[in-house]
Order: sequence, then C-alpha cells, then structure tokens
Amino acid sequence: MFARHFIDSLEFARNGRELRGEIALADMHRLQDLLAVPEGAIGYFVRGYQDKSGKPMLEVVMDGSCQLICQRCLSGFVYPVHLVSHLLLAQESELERFSAEEDGPDSILADKHQDIGALLEEELLLSLPFAPMHPPGACQIAARGSGQPGNSAFAALAGLKDR
Ligand SMILES: [Zn+2]
Repeated sequence: MFARHFIDSLEFARNGRELRGEIALADMHRLQDLLAVPEGAIGYFVRGYQDKSGKPMLEVVMDGSCQLICQRCLSGFVYPVHLVSHLLLAQESELERFSAEEDGPDSILADKHQDIGALLEEELLLSLPFAPMHPPGACQIAARGSGQPGNSAFAALAGLKDR
C-alpha cells in the first residue's frame, strides 16, 4: 500500500522541496479499468520551484510502464510511462484565468493538504491515450494470421515456408 504523502503545495514550491518514490498501480483506483494487469509500480519525482516571475510551480516526473488493454483486440500490452508535467499552483480566484491562458502551463489549485497520490494518478490518467491500442499490425488477432488480407507479417511468413 502506498504510504500517502500530503504536502502544503505552496510551501513545497517556495522552499524548493523534492519528493521521490514509487507508487503501485494497484493503488490508483481510477486507473483500474484501463489496466490489463494491476501489477507493478511507477517511479515518481515531484519538485517544487518558482518560475522566472516567481510563480509557485510543481514539476511532476513519472517513469515506468503499465499494461493497458488494447481497444482493438482487447489483449494487454506494455505501455511505457515517461511523463513530465509543470503545474502552476493557482489560488481559487486565479484558477479560471490561468486555465484560459492557452500557452501557459497547466494549473492546479494550490492546496495546503495536497494528496501526492491523487496528483500522480491525475497526471498519469491525463497522459494516457483516449483509446490505447497496439501499434498498427501488432494486435494479437492479426499476429496469429486469421486470414485477413493485407497482413504483411503473415504473408512474409507464408512466403518463407514456400521456399
Ligand atoms: Zn491490439
């Protein structure tokens, strides 16, 4: 079980604090429907800093992999996770304005009791494709060569046998 970490996000940013560890995929409840196998963990690094104009920021880095369910063939496949997010910590009164700025960084509400696990889960969910799929031609059904025309890998194998 992931030991829950809470930070005062503004204080964390102002004092340049850092936090690193691993979060188990099984502890990310909103992720479960997307996972083929709820095993493994993702390494994370959270760093507080202030941008050039002194705005409080969080950098969130996540590295690892998870097994997602391919939406084409419904089998699992390994999806590498390498994400880096820079989040502006906004006050409630600023959040709407910051969110409307198109080229600005993503903003989240500054929170004296920010749940790091919830933040990591949110960032991971946002980084995943809407409909995760194998690369073209790599689905399990296609690889078995179910007689689909245009399956070049299967055709190449058949060609080899004929020699
Ligand atoms: Zn597939």
